[in-house]
Amino acid sequence: MKIVVLKFGGTSVGSIERIKKVTNIIIGYIKKKYKVIVVSSAMSGETNELIKKSKKISNNFSPSEYDVLLSTGEQASCALIAGRLNHLGYKSNSWMGWQIPIFTEGNYCSSRISTIYKKNILNFLRSGGIPVIAGFQGINVNNRITTLGRGGSDASAIMLSKFFKAKKCIIYTDVEGVMTTDPRTLKKAKKIKIISYEEMLEMASLGAKVMQPHSIQDARLNRINIDVKSSFTNKEGTLITKRKNISNNKTITGITSTKNDSKITLVGVKDRPGVAASIFKPLSQNFINVDMVVQNISANGKETDLTFTIKTEELQKTSKLLRQNKKIKFKKLIIDKNVSKVSIIGVGMITTPGVTYRMFQALANKGINILVISTSEIKISVLINKKNLKKAVYTLHKEFGLYI
Ligand code: ADP
Ligand code: ASP
Ligand code: MG
Repeated sequence: MKIVVLKFGGTSVGSIERIKKVTNIIIGYIKKKYKVIVVSSAMSGETNELIKKSKKISNNFSPSEYDVLLSTGEQASCALIAGRLNHLGYKSNSWMGWQIPIFTEGNYCSSRISTIYKKNILNFLRSGGIPVIAGFQGINVNNRITTLGRGGSDASAIMLSKFFKAKKCIIYTDVEGVMTTDPRTLKKAKKIKIISYEEMLEMASLGAKVMQPHSIQDARLNRINIDVKSSFTNKEGTLITKRKNISNNKTITGITSTKNDSKITLVGVKDRPGVAASIFKPLSQNFINVDMVVQNISANGKETDLTFTIKTEELQKTSKLLRQNKKIKFKKLIIDKNVSKVSIIGVGMITTPGVTYRMFQALANKGINILVISTSEIKISVLINKKNLKKAVYTLHKEFGLYI
């Protein structure tokens, strides 16, 4: 069987008109003799609305019921797609995760797909049916509904491609593909034709919402090629694939930026072994993800300043935990919400010397001050004042020739 998995994101199914359009895309593949597995997200805005409702009921909403609630968005969009296909004379059924079933592991709200039971879907495909499968959801060993984290329909599509040995996995979204940066930040961002799993994973983890990071880990592990393209136009998109398939002479492939980071500085903490661990232990116990960290060299050998970043939504909780922490002493706690992390990503930097210098110099030339730095083999991140975000992204695009 020549199977293709087509995943439609929220905007692609965001209205009745859009749903009519995507059914035409689906039928296009049927006409080319593909067996099509459709994966759909909830209509855009739907999941956010459900989250708002849960918060109005309780700010300590049960994680298990939260997943039941959030998974309902996908039920509506899948039924509408299948209903439209039926209307046009095609055999189609919607399938929720539990009906297949799609088994998941891990915690509620951030589960990962472990196994997909194939028999029912295969029979349906063989009989000429078009299954429309709810993304973002599955069940756990206790037979409870789980969800896969925000943007998790991408992971559903990739794992369905794996289990059904699909010839293609196509992620239809509202942009033409993976761009050199978020086109909402920089209109002139360019489409990347081909990108490695490693670079895409860094970009996704550093803020490129176009693909969910876990989904890229799954794709990389299972060597699933992904096409990312627009459901609004008929243009070629981006291929996400293994590094070996790519011959590219660019040093930098993409640039990301964040809008929801906050910087915390603890002034005057004791400079002795174990202090950093005492600071971060309660944060990790409360699942607060600490990102960039910098500790100043102590001027007097006794006290130092420690700076780190977290997501702004964790700010209140973090500052409470720090103030309540009896194991540490500090003189002052400074919070800065006006920061943004800008990162350049590219496997090319492994073999190209001087990339760090070029990045810092280009920013300095524009008077942009760097607050914190962190690096890995294929990325360099800097924390800057949010007001300089667009200027920084633009400047780095020019510096590394991404417009060409
Ligand atoms: P979908 O609902 O189709 O899953 P998402 O909203 O999750 O779509 O992801 C698409 C959005 O990702 C785009 O509208 C774009 O603003 C954003 N985005 C961020 N970074 C990038 C990037 N580098 N390339 C393309 N889109 C990006
Ligand atoms: N509907 C879910 C969300 O908004 C899953 C997805 O869109 O991929 O996060
Ligand atoms: Mg998405």
